[in-house]
Amino acid sequence: MQIRKDRCVGCGICRDNCPQNAISIINRKAFIDAAKCNDCGICLNVCPRGAIILKDVKIDAEKQEDLLSIAHSLSKKAEDISNKLEQICRDRNTVS
Ligand code: SF4
Ligand code: SF4
Repeated sequence: MQIRKDRCVGCGICRDNCPQNAISIINRKAFIDAAKCNDCGICLNVCPRGAIILKDVKIDAEKQEDLLSIAHSLSKKAEDISNKLEQICRDRNTVS
């Protein structure tokens, strides 16, 4: 996670919602202690200013496998839909 200092107004909402107590407000700007942060993404979602962005998110091997499996499944479904659409088009052309 990375704080966009140009957007942060130091409201502390991210700090109050961080389950790892990884966020401090210093000089009216949020600061994330990378050693405590577990990349859960809560702060990113609660910030009303869109001041927290993803940066160098580490994905472990297990998560990477899950993501690849989801991508594969979606790609297969897209192919099935495409084939069905093609079949529908062929059927319509045959009928008319
Ligand atoms: S919630 Fe957003 S604006 Fe508020 S302190 Fe955190 S990063 Fe800054
Ligand atoms: S990503 Fe999660 S653990 Fe890291 S600073 Fe944000 S709320 Fe805290």
